[in-house]
Amino acid sequence: MIIDIVLREFIQAEHIAIITHIQPDGDAVGSCLALAEILKEIGKDADLFCQDRIPASLSFLAGTDQFKSETAGRMSYDLAIAVDCSDKERMGACAAVFDNAGNTINIDHHISNVFFANINLVDSNAAATGEIIYQLGKARLGKLSRQTAEALYTAISTDTGSFCFSSTTPQSYRIAAELMDCGIDIEHITNMLYKTNRVERMRLLGKALQSLELYENNQIAVLTITQDDLISTGAMESETENIVNYAKDIVGVKVGILLKETADGSVKASFRSNGGVDVGKLAAQFGGGGHRAASGASMQMSVPEAKSELLTAVQTALGEMIQ
Ligand code: 5GP
Ligand code: MN
Repeated sequence: MIIDIVLREFIQAEHIAIITHIQPDGDAVGSCLALAEILKEIGKDADLFCQDRIPASLSFLAGTDQFKSETAGRMSYDLAIAVDCSDKERMGACAAVFDNAGNTINIDHHISNVFFANINLVDSNAAATGEIIYQLGKARLGKLSRQTAEALYTAISTDTGSFCFSSTTPQSYRIAAELMDCGIDIEHITNMLYKTNRVERMRLLGKALQSLELYENNQIAVLTITQDDLISTGAMESETENIVNYAKDIVGVKVGILLKETADGSVKASFRSNGGVDVGKLAAQFGGGGHRAASGASMQMSVPEAKSELLTAVQTALGEMIQ
């Protein structure tokens, strides 16, 4: 079994690097922290890498201060493990650590994963990478520590939209139940994740909602966040998380889009679908990726250009949809 192969590699390695994607989310951070804890219990210290800062909303998790940038670790590692990354580019500058390692493992749940490591533990049926890390921990240790369980619950809760997205499976709930048996405080985690909005974030949300545009008889909803919006509200980039759902959640909308202007004037786009359109494919047309119902892409063009290209692509996708 692939899980046994991966566990054998963990045991054989001496210096291990765990790397996750740029603009990390709850699944990225929770899965890395849980994996590091599991490795510690096997007697292995691992270094954690992420190009970007860990969102403040996740700082309640033990160990978030341990993430390093690509220049802060060892010269090279025996084993590098990419976590929640569908391709190497998702690691940003930290891909250098991956490339320098003697051996590589890719642990992920994206259907768009391109199997870029020596060993690829990819399960697109898993609602979160955290579910795969859970299986590894359980196979090796039996019961997980409370700290590991807290990180894994965070990973699964955030990637399933609090167990609401279509990616949620009976297995997601079974794992959550087993994590509760490890003694985690669900109310505390939920409060830390979803009920600690800074006022700056709320002001940014107000601006984003003001920007709402609807197309194709309200089937496409577009929200835009400019650099001006971020600067004038004082909100952080990571505080744009989940704003795209306000576009998706409008009655009649089939595709919700959030266009975020980046510091260099290009666009980071997020896509959410209510089922009919495969936004994973849509993102892939623009060099991005993700899942059927949630995806994203970095677009090297201005906001108006990105909007116009995306509208054309979504109109085509809606046309091809079986109504
Ligand atoms: P979000 O819109 O929340 O940034 O991302 C939604 C989903 O799409 C996540 O599963 C994320 O991993 C994926 N995703 C977002 N942006 C990109 C991208 O630029 N490239 C790839 N390959 N996947 C992305
Ligand atoms: Mn994920």
